[in-house]
Amino acid sequence: MIKNNLKSICSRVAGIPGIYNLMRRYKKGCTVFFYHGVENKLVDPLLQEVHLPFSQFEKQVKYLMKNYEIISLDYLYDCIINGYKIDPSHVLLTFDDGYKNNIDVIEPFLRSMNIPFSVFISTRHIDTGKRFPTYYLRAAILYTEKEYISVPSINKYLDMSSQDKRWLAISNMAAVLKSVPQQTVDLMVSDLIKLLPDDRWVELNNLFMSDEPMNWDDIKKLHKSGVIIGSHCHDHAILHDHQSSSEINYQLKTSKELIEKHLGECKYFAYPNGSMKKISLEAMLGVKKNKYLLGFSIVPGEIENPANAFLLPRILAVTDFDEFKFHLSSCSFYNKKYNEWSYSFSST
Ligand SMILES: [Zn+2]
Repeated sequence: MIKNNLKSICSRVAGIPGIYNLMRRYKKGCTVFFYHGVENKLVDPLLQEVHLPFSQFEKQVKYLMKNYEIISLDYLYDCIINGYKIDPSHVLLTFDDGYKNNIDVIEPFLRSMNIPFSVFISTRHIDTGKRFPTYYLRAAILYTEKEYISVPSINKYLDMSSQDKRWLAISNMAAVLKSVPQQTVDLMVSDLIKLLPDDRWVELNNLFMSDEPMNWDDIKKLHKSGVIIGSHCHDHAILHDHQSSSEINYQLKTSKELIEKHLGECKYFAYPNGSMKKISLEAMLGVKKNKYLLGFSIVPGEIENPANAFLLPRILAVTDFDEFKFHLSSCSFYNKKYNEWSYSFSST
């Protein structure tokens, strides 16, 4: 409902001549986009909701090239550390998680246009090829043939008798997945895997190749072609208040060590699901302690100097083109809320 309203506002705004140029005048700093993946063809757009169709991605990138300047993460770091005035026409492209389509679809396209980008990877998934919890959640719930399912790890018995009830279960369980300690996440994933027979998982995994993580050879190739690789935790763990200190430190330390072992350096970090409510003070201090140079949230806003280097804002690159342009040109309207939030961390 809220999504649809926003869509209609964006398409109405898009119809006003010169509106984006007018809104752009209020831009104060650099906008960092976060994507996940881009696919040539989407089989089930609901299940593959974190991936953009290539045609939309291409349109967005060409728009950015025409109207803005796409800079690299190293360049942004230089500006932050040296306190330079940050240019509001600068934008940056980042990709979270480390999906296979980052090397198969995104890298050849962006390289052909000489556009820098960065990828934040969850190293356990790169190491093992195991997919992300939200993929197991969506695939198991949408494709189970059962009318009721049981999820013993969280004592839930859920009704699967209609499509609406399945989506409600996905949304409720996604909220649980994002707020429980990492050990419970692992148990929930094992419960979800048990909902479909092994051969059905093989079929679905082949159908939805988009959700396969890259391996270290892929990561090394990306790094060699100039892509900056950062950490996104070891297990894609969400560093909220219910994670123990040792878990937070393990996630930050292990992922950094592994990336450094394979690539020689790991300077930057992006918090998995790093919204205002999900980043704990301990997590931010851990990012600093583990010697990352920058940490990116998913709190919307723009980067201006002086910036809190360990809690930088990013905005989601949505699929809809009008909505994408609207978010970009109205990003400065979030700055006040973002600044209050990031300031509350530095003053504690
Ligand atoms: Zn992520």
